[in-house]
Amino acid sequence: MTPLARLLIAQIDAGGPMTLADYMTACLMHPKYGYYATRDPFGAAGDFITAPEISQMFGELIGLALAQTWLDQGAPEKFALVELGPGRGTLMADILRATRAVPGFDAAAALHLVETSPALRARQATALDGYEPQWHGAIETVPDLPLFAVANEFFDALPIRQAQRDGDMWRERMVTRDGARLIPALGAPAALPALAHRLGDTEDGDVVEFCPAGTRIAAALGARIAARGGAALIVDYGDWRSLGDTFQALRAHEAADPYAAPGDADLTAHVDFEALALAASPAHHTLMTAQGVVLKRLGIAQRAQALAARLSGAARAAHVAAHRRLTHRDEMGTLFKVMALYPEGAAPPPGLQGRV
Ligand code: SAH
Repeated sequence: MTPLARLLIAQIDAGGPMTLADYMTACLMHPKYGYYATRDPFGAAGDFITAPEISQMFGELIGLALAQTWLDQGAPEKFALVELGPGRGTLMADILRATRAVPGFDAAAALHLVETSPALRARQATALDGYEPQWHGAIETVPDLPLFAVANEFFDALPIRQAQRDGDMWRERMVTRDGARLIPALGAPAALPALAHRLGDTEDGDVVEFCPAGTRIAAALGARIAARGGAALIVDYGDWRSLGDTFQALRAHEAADPYAAPGDADLTAHVDFEALALAASPAHHTLMTAQGVVLKRLGIAQRAQALAARLSGAARAAHVAAHRRLTHRDEMGTLFKVMALYPEGAAPPPGLQGRV
């Protein structure tokens, strides 16, 4: 049993079964035993590897897309350059290096990072040495400026809740204990206002996920972008509308039982892009588009070729493999999606289409 499992069992004994969201929050963010609070999970030696850790091309293209959006909106002379959940800081370092070539962008940008993990804040400080980032525990405290934001594999880490349809009610999937083991269990049927719009497209027994933290953050981003201008690029695995149980644990690059070792495995769920788009209104949203398609439209093939020309041997082979990994449909190209939020009357960010 992990130390966190012991703690959660005591909590369940005292207060009854907990929501999946409370369980996920404890597993990921507990100040002493939480997954993100205690380690650096990224990279080949960690539990998973993210797009910016695979190749610098990802951050370069995302950065140039953000900079073009800034130019398209008249290059506001002061704006907040925001990353939600910056991990090791690699993506932002690549964004800042690539956008140095865009006159005025650097000087106008104030760098704000939304990150809760102290261990990762320290990593980000090292990666972004010289850029004077300011850290925030939540998006709401970022100064009220035009906001150009990126979130890669951020929303999938936010705590979800799950409910199973029961007539016109929902039974929430809670976490309880069976002896020394943590297990899922259904709560009593109840009306769930957050799922009212899902009564039309689900049947008895269907499981639906919702992410209160994600919709709150999307609402804050949308309100800021609609009022002050800017854009948010959201990249994650998921789909337009959640259906079924996507709650999963990753340990050493393998899927694992999410209830087995709380605090020792990364927990995620697929992102419900429609819920983010709805919450972000009055900001507009683009079509949700496969990552492979977006990176191709942004010119990854040309960038890959330019970089390959300077490489040989194993380094060149690794570079070719990284390009494939980011874009191919059997790798991250289709599973990962991109959606942008942007203000009414503005052009959608390059690589993405507005709704028709
Ligand atoms: N974007 C990075 C890291 C993704 S992992 C990359 O692509 O490599 C998720 C990140 O979000 C981590 O930095 C984690 O500490 C952070 N995070 C998770 N939940 C958060 C929350 N509620 N508020 C702020 N940051 C959070």
